[in-house]
Amino acid sequence: MIDINKFIRKNIKNLIPYQSARRIKGKGDIWLNANESPFIQKKTFFFDNLNRYPDKEYKLLIKTYSQYLNINYKNILATRGSDEAIELLIKAFCEPQIDRIMIFPPTYDMYQVYANILNVEIISILQLKNFQIDLISLKKFIKQVKLIYICNPNNPTGTLINPQDIIEILNFTKNRCLVIIDEAYIEFCLKRTSINLIHNFDHLIVLRTLSKAFGLASIRCGFIIAHIEIINVIKKIIAPYPLSTPTLKIAQSFFSQKNLTILKKNVSELNKNKKFLIKELKNLSYIKKIFPSSANFILVSFYYSDKVFLQLLKNKIVTRNQNFKILLKNCIRISVGTYAECVSLINTFQVIQINI
Ligand SMILES: *Cc1c(COP(=O)(O)O)cnc(C)c1O
Repeated sequence: MIDINKFIRKNIKNLIPYQSARRIKGKGDIWLNANESPFIQKKTFFFDNLNRYPDKEYKLLIKTYSQYLNINYKNILATRGSDEAIELLIKAFCEPQIDRIMIFPPTYDMYQVYANILNVEIISILQLKNFQIDLISLKKFIKQVKLIYICNPNNPTGTLINPQDIIEILNFTKNRCLVIIDEAYIEFCLKRTSINLIHNFDHLIVLRTLSKAFGLASIRCGFIIAHIEIINVIKKIIAPYPLSTPTLKIAQSFFSQKNLTILKKNVSELNKNKKFLIKELKNLSYIKKIFPSSANFILVSFYYSDKVFLQLLKNKIVTRNQNFKILLKNCIRISVGTYAECVSLINTFQVIQINI
């Protein structure tokens, strides 16, 4: 079993967490333990019970999500978006200026941003030309690394990490560090999830979010899935009531059979639109390369990406310029929209082709 004390920061290990009313628990009919208002703002809002701190609602969502994943609820924690999860993990495990995190650029920026905020050193191992992980360098620079952040499929490249590489990394890092696999886009290629590996590797942490495929970016809800010992450490440091009742209830309602069917339909529609977009873009002479993507965006390399980016903006189409990022010279990341939005994009591309 994982020896969590080997990984946890000493001050967090010794920390006495805040004893919220929820933590102390209790049973009864009259609730006078949390200084809440006894008045229910029923008529003003869509949600009742807004005078109470969210507790039951949190537990209910965890239970529901655990059924959806088919993973024990004790292995799951809900966070304010998966961005909060990224931050909490560094806070719990990395001693500033001593421990390090390892990342594989080009990747999601927030790993680096939170490490910088928390004054934790970053070991950057550049991806190989095919956007896979450089295993030789990973092994070489593992010293003092506490956390490894792997984004799968990767943002902004859309690449899926080789499953045998994931296994190799997990075997190599056993008892050495914790491995985080950020699955923000996994619903677009669900077969490739690493979630069931948490049963074989107790140093694996999987991050999920409702912000992308679920279409709930506004409510700020993400999840950490890991060994119970890891979950318990994060529970110690997370805010007492981390998600609001509206967030919890809206998230909860999205796991109905009806909504899960809609989710599946939306995912397959976006995957279809992505194929269509790639097929049409291939006809444009000023596109150098379209990288294979397993997410709801594509990375496209142009001969002059800044020009293309600005021309798209002029036509009121906002994409994400990646030109300044390492390995991504002249690349633009384009999210896959509705079919109509894809058609507009292609039409615009055809017009600006003339202008360049
Ligand atoms: C969008 C994104 C997130 C952030 O998700 P939130 O749950 O909205 O905080 C995390 N990781 C990756 C790779 C993302 O692209």
